[in-house]
Amino acid sequence: MNIENKSPILIIASTNQGKVNEFKSLLEDFPLEVIMQPDGLIVNETGKTFLENARIKAKATSKYTGKNCLADDSGLCIASLDGAPGINSARYANTDHERIQRVLKELSGVQDRKAYFISALCISSPDGEILIEVQGKCEGVITNTPRGEKGFGYDPIFEVIPTGKTFAEMGEVKKQKLGHRGKAFELLKPSLTNILANF
Ligand code: IMP
Repeated sequence: MNIENKSPILIIASTNQGKVNEFKSLLEDFPLEVIMQPDGLIVNETGKTFLENARIKAKATSKYTGKNCLADDSGLCIASLDGAPGINSARYANTDHERIQRVLKELSGVQDRKAYFISALCISSPDGEILIEVQGKCEGVITNTPRGEKGFGYDPIFEVIPTGKTFAEMGEVKKQKLGHRGKAFELLKPSLTNILANF
């Protein structure tokens, strides 16, 4: 891979445009060129936890690109479904629409709709060493029907306590402040400046 640029490069280890957009926004104050991982890289997420999968993705993407990488493994955990879809959130059905329909069907008639999102983030160096890892969480409830047009994934059915709004009804800034990825990013931020000094 040949990427020439004056700013240090940080590859986002994801092909999910929604996630990459969130990271571009979160990282906009840092002197970085933020780039989505290249085509052709397929990583098997064989970990048993969000953090294990984030490490697997970061290391594989760093080794493939020879660059510093930021990986996020995230997902939706629903209490009354024993934590499902959890680390299988992306694979729960074929499309966002079908994943949402599956969750709503499984929760049909269920009173306890408590859920949370987790984001595990890690940054790895070009040789695949993990430089930092953090986790952020956002508590909410699963709605009875989808609401809102913004965001991606399960956003239309995840209402954030205590806003009364789904992620898909919020603007980007509010989702960043309240959301799992934004919270994880806040934990990462203090170390990021030091890490960047060595890029
Ligand atoms: P990953 O790319 O393996 O981490 O898969 C994460 C999956 O969890 C995504 O494909 C979405 O379905 C879901 N997900 C993660 N973060 C969010 C979010 O902020 N909003 C909605 N869905 C999300």
